Amino acid sequence: MTIKRIVIVGGGTAGWMAAAALSRMVKAHDLKVTLVESEMIGTVGVGEATIPPFVEFNDALGIDEAEMMSATQASFKLGIHFVNWQSVGDSYFHPFGTYGYDIGGCSFHHIWLKYRMQGDDRPLHKFSPETMAAMHRKFAKTPADQPGDLPPINYAYHLDASAYARFLRRFAERNGVIRQEGKVDHVELHSESGFVQSITLEGGQQIAGDFFVDCTGFRGLLIEQALKTGYEDWSRWLPCDRAVALPTAGNGTVLPYTRATAHKAGWQWRIALQQRNGNGHVYCSSFMEDQEALDILTANVEGEIQADPNFLRFVTGRRKKFWNKNVVALGLAAGFMEPLESTSIHLINTGVNKLIALLSLEGITQAQENTFNRLTRKEYERIRDFLILHYNATERDDSEFWNYCRRMDVPDSLKDKIELFRLNGQVFREEDELFAATSWVAVMMGQGILPASTIAMAGAIPEPGLKTEYDDIEKSIDYLVHNMPSHDEYLARYCPANVI
Ligand code: FAD
Repeated sequence: MTIKRIVIVGGGTAGWMAAAALSRMVKAHDLKVTLVESEMIGTVGVGEATIPPFVEFNDALGIDEAEMMSATQASFKLGIHFVNWQSVGDSYFHPFGTYGYDIGGCSFHHIWLKYRMQGDDRPLHKFSPETMAAMHRKFAKTPADQPGDLPPINYAYHLDASAYARFLRRFAERNGVIRQEGKVDHVELHSESGFVQSITLEGGQQIAGDFFVDCTGFRGLLIEQALKTGYEDWSRWLPCDRAVALPTAGNGTVLPYTRATAHKAGWQWRIALQQRNGNGHVYCSSFMEDQEALDILTANVEGEIQADPNFLRFVTGRRKKFWNKNVVALGLAAGFMEPLESTSIHLINTGVNKLIALLSLEGITQAQENTFNRLTRKEYERIRDFLILHYNATERDDSEFWNYCRRMDVPDSLKDKIELFRLNGQVFREEDELFAATSWVAVMMGQGILPASTIAMAGAIPEPGLKTEYDDIEKSIDYLVHNMPSHDEYLARYCPANVI
C-alpha cells in the first residue's frame, strides 16, 4: 500500500508540530496531508516550557526565531531553578549547557571535585555561564568574541503554546496542509489488517487515509480507543496524577528560567512569558485534595490572576506501542510524564523527527514500527529515571508524600546510576539519552548526592597549568555575563511580543 494521504487527528502542539514538519513533503511528493481538529473540544491549554533541542526543531523548519518569539510572547530559558527539593529552604539550578568544558579528557565536574576535596569552596554553578546569566537575569546569544574556550550559550524558550500552534498552522497551511474543523465520531478499521481506514466526523463526513498520526491528547482516539494498544502505568515511581494551572499577569521582570518549587505533595511551576506568567501545581491525589492544591497555588503566585483554574488529570506512563499498524501517536496520545523537566514537547519533537526519518511513501513495514517503538521506549525510560531522581533523592520527611518518594524502590537502571555517582562522580550518557552528564550532575549534587572521590585521571592532569585554566574559566564566565544585557532589554530589542 503506497502512502498518498496522511491524516493528522488533533490540532494541539503535537498536531501542528507534526503538520508543520510533514508539510515540507506535500508539494514535492503530491502528498495530501489533512489535519482534523475540534474547536469545541479545544486543547489541553498548558505546556509552555521547552528545552534546547526545540530551538533546532524550529530552525530545521526554516522558522525565523525572532518572528516566532514575537508571535508567541516567548522568553528565553536558561534552565530550571529547583526550590525545596532536597529540603525545605534549599535550592539549586539545573542549567542548559555544560559546566566549564572537558580538560585533559576529564569532564569538568571531576576537576571541580578534585579542587573541592582540596578545600576550594567555589560552588559548581560559578562555572556554568547559563546559571550565572540566569542568576543575574541576563541573556545574550553567544557573542562572536566569546572569551576563552567556553562553549556556546545553550537556551530554549518559554512560549504561549496556543499562539505557537496558531503560528505553526499558518506555516503548515502555506505549505499545503488542509485543516478540517470537526469532531471525530468514529474510526473505521480494515476488517482483515486492522489498519485504520478512515475517520468519520459528527455530521457524517468521512476522511480516508493511508497513514494516521494520532495527536488527540490524553484520549488517544486512534491509538487506544480504536486500536486498543494498551498503556504502561508508571505512577508507582511518579505518583503525581493531577495538576491545576492558573495564569497571572506579568509583573515587570521576565525571568530567563523556569522555577519549580516543591510543596508538600507535589510542586509548582512558574514560567515567565513577556506579558504573563504561567503557573501550575502538580500534585498527587492520594495525598492532597484539589481544593488544597488550588489554595497552595493561589497563595504562592505573583500578579493578578487572569483566568479560572484549569484542573487536569493524568496517569504517568506510556503507550505499549507508539507506532501501531498505520498509526503513530504523538504528544499526550503517546504517553505522559509530568512537566518537571519540560520533556513533553521535546518528545513530540523527537517523535516527529523519527517519523520523518522512517516514513516511506512506498508502504509500511514491521521494521519501521519496531524501530520507532524501540527507540521511543528507551527515550521515555531514560527521561522517567531522571524525573524519579528528583523525587527519590530528597531528605524531606515533612509529609507522607515525601516519605513515600524517599523510600520507594526505584528502577535498577537508576539505582546503578546513583551508586556509580556516589563512588567517584562518574556519569554516562546512555543510549542517546536526552539528559547529558551536566544534567545528572546538577540534580544529583543539587539534591545532596555527593561523590566519595573523583576519578583517578583528574589527579593526573599536570599542574600548575590545570589550576590556571580552571581559574580562567571562572574569569571568562564573569566577563561574559558582566557584558550581557538584561534579559528584559534583550527581549525588547530582539522579539517584543506581537501576538496574533
Ligand atoms: P492536546 O493539546 O490535548 O490536543 C489534542 C487535540 O486533539 C485538540 O486539537 C483536540 O481538539 C483534538 N481532539 C481530541 N479529540 C478529538 C475528536 N474526537 N475529534 C477531533 N479532534 C479531537 N510540555 C512541555 O514540553 N512543557 C511544559 O511546560 C508542559 N507543561 C505541562 C503541564 C501540564 C499540567 C500538562 C498536563 C502537560 C504539560 N506539558 C508540557 C505537555 C504539553 O501540554 C503537551 O505535550 C502538548 O500540549 C501537546 O498536547 P497534545 O497536542 O498532544 O494534546
